[in-house]
Amino acid sequence: MSESEAITKGSRRTFLQLSAAATAAMAFRIATEASLAAEDRNTFHPGAVVIDANENPLGPCDLARKAIVDMAPQGGRYSYWLKEEFVRTFTTMEGLKPEYIRPFPGSSEPLHYSVLAFTSPTRSYVTADPGYEAGMRAAKFTGARIAKTALTKTYAHDVKAMLEAAPDAGLFYVCTPNNPTGTMTSHSDIEQLVAAKPKDSVVLVDEAYIHFSDGVSAIDLVKAGQDVIVLRTFSKIYGMAGIRCGVAIGRPDLLAKLESYGGWSAMPITAVAAATASLRHEHLVPERKQLNATIRQKTFDWLDRQGYSYTPSQSNCFMLDAKRPAKEVIDAMAARNVYIGRPWPVWPTHVRITVGTQPEMDAFQAAFDAVMKNSTTTGYAASPSLKTRRSYADGQSWPSA
Ligand code: PLP
Repeated sequence: MSESEAITKGSRRTFLQLSAAATAAMAFRIATEASLAAEDRNTFHPGAVVIDANENPLGPCDLARKAIVDMAPQGGRYSYWLKEEFVRTFTTMEGLKPEYIRPFPGSSEPLHYSVLAFTSPTRSYVTADPGYEAGMRAAKFTGARIAKTALTKTYAHDVKAMLEAAPDAGLFYVCTPNNPTGTMTSHSDIEQLVAAKPKDSVVLVDEAYIHFSDGVSAIDLVKAGQDVIVLRTFSKIYGMAGIRCGVAIGRPDLLAKLESYGGWSAMPITAVAAATASLRHEHLVPERKQLNATIRQKTFDWLDRQGYSYTPSQSNCFMLDAKRPAKEVIDAMAARNVYIGRPWPVWPTHVRITVGTQPEMDAFQAAFDAVMKNSTTTGYAASPSLKTRRSYADGQSWPSA
């Protein structure tokens, strides 16, 4: 072999090794609402209204905050029993056996791992469009065909179309309430999907936003031994997106399959302590559900008066038809220091709005009104000290729960 051939072969081997490593690294890059929302920007001006990532401006409830502070001095220890206490609290409330749930630092991880575990080049990933994109990103890594189906006229997942779209399905992803529309898919539709799905496929029901709605959980299908995994997160109604706690609920054999991909690390003890305290808070869910519904309805009433259409959300987000290219509206709103959510290519004139506090929604209305009335917007005068997401959060004082 000549020297140049040896160099070529050597560099090809190095290249292949590097690209295999890059693929492996990519396989573990988990798409989250935070990363999806921040794809176009990561800085906010002081006083910004941030309603672009379905976060909860109330943050953790008072009991959870106290639990975090009380737990901090013990942060030098793994304290595994705290995770067990969390699992016991959750499973007792839901009437589940402890082996039917696995905690994770948020539900993005089990979502990603479910796609890795149950899809492949011969087992498709089936999702609604518009739907939450994270699973599609994961399916790209497994090489699965991604079957997207339109929502029904009532903005539910079209389970019949989902079944027809993928006789080779490995995973059906049903997000209810749906991100980004906030609309529901009924329990009976999910039952139909489970009854008619191809053998060995799994239905992943993402209930990240269920507490905001009147929806019925699919946990009963897990208890009935079906091929169903339910995801829950403490990032939404519980206001713990930055604290990180979520769970996967499923038959132990299904959960074991997720473990091949990750999730073995110790949970942050502040997260499990705060989640346990939140579960024990009697009024948190009903009070926050009511507050969100009231602010959402006031926003809808205003939009009705202005003649805009939007999805009939039961969640903390909805899609609003601006009847103009979405990107243009998003940029014009940002120029007025109001950061709204991203568009979905299938609905190019819709923008996603997160329901924030009442003052935030008042600011949203004023900015949206101005943007829609003026095609040219006034640029926001940048302060010399642009604030990052982190310093923005530090600098704000939200009302407590
Ligand atoms: N599922 C849906 C539908 C979401 O919108 C999100 C975040 O916004 C998640 C899962 C994951 O959230 P987290 O990882 O914060 O628990």
